[in-house]
Amino acid sequence: MHNFLPVAYFEGQFCDFSDAKISIATHALHYGTGAFGGLRGIPDPAGSGRILLFRLDRHCQRLSTSARLLNYDLPADKIRAVIEDFVRKNSPDKSFYIRPFVYTSDLGISPRLHNVEKSFFVYGLELGDYLSPEGVTCRISSWYRQEDRSLPLRGKISGAYITSSLAKTEAVESGFDESILMNSQGKVSEASGMNVFIVRHGKLITPGYEQDILEGITRDSILTVARNLGIEVVERPVDKSELLIADEVFLSGTAAKITPVRKVESYNLPTSRPVTDRLREKLTAITEGRDDDYKDWVFAIDLG
Ligand code: PMP
Repeated sequence: MHNFLPVAYFEGQFCDFSDAKISIATHALHYGTGAFGGLRGIPDPAGSGRILLFRLDRHCQRLSTSARLLNYDLPADKIRAVIEDFVRKNSPDKSFYIRPFVYTSDLGISPRLHNVEKSFFVYGLELGDYLSPEGVTCRISSWYRQEDRSLPLRGKISGAYITSSLAKTEAVESGFDESILMNSQGKVSEASGMNVFIVRHGKLITPGYEQDILEGITRDSILTVARNLGIEVVERPVDKSELLIADEVFLSGTAAKITPVRKVESYNLPTSRPVTDRLREKLTAITEGRDDDYKDWVFAIDLG
């Protein structure tokens, strides 16, 4: 069971988490017509008493875009204001995760996005490591990532997570920790809830947006940081066999941070991971507010 933060935002106001309840007839529950965000917060390790949120603006923008894809006009500024209040009201003292969610809240029957009520809630939970920081084993999924022509992949649409769920369970039930999905062209797309990077001959390589990936905010941050460190970065299609022979493979996401991959299918990967280690160390320093070059990526909330 998770440790949920005590206060939630629900139906336009703040309330106890346990009072934020939806009806069994809720439209989004039946049709997957929701979209969510996910961001981490930490109490400032420097002891300022403030809460640090990583790339708050980007997360709010992505959720607003997801909402727009669901025919719901919810400005990023509104999401941001609610999240700031949400953090102040909860005053978390441990590392936590915020889950804002937009959805069709109507009680009507019939899948559609027009003429249906929408709503927005936010809740949070304490969250430590989502995947083992020591590294994970990955199976190549027998399920394929969806295509943008059947589902808007630029949004973090809740209904799309059926594929992630199938892939994750298939991997775990066959003895692996995680799943890597190919796209319909047979190229590497992403993991169940993370983007994928490989390192070959010192170059950092990751599938581009045309490979049906989610526009990961951690992915974007890693690309910027790597370029600034002078690491050669290439966004291009990645073949399955490249995963098996890569010098390093890692997964990136808000929950997973940078998680090394130890093994793909039956192929063990090298245990020395200089590029992964370097990027991980840098990203940790940035998210903890210890890197002045990236101060504008870290939003500090005074609990006052
Ligand atoms: N892909 C999927 C399917 C995800 O759910 C996530 C987690 N949000 C990611 C990639 C990584 O995105 P981010 O770095 O923005 O958390």
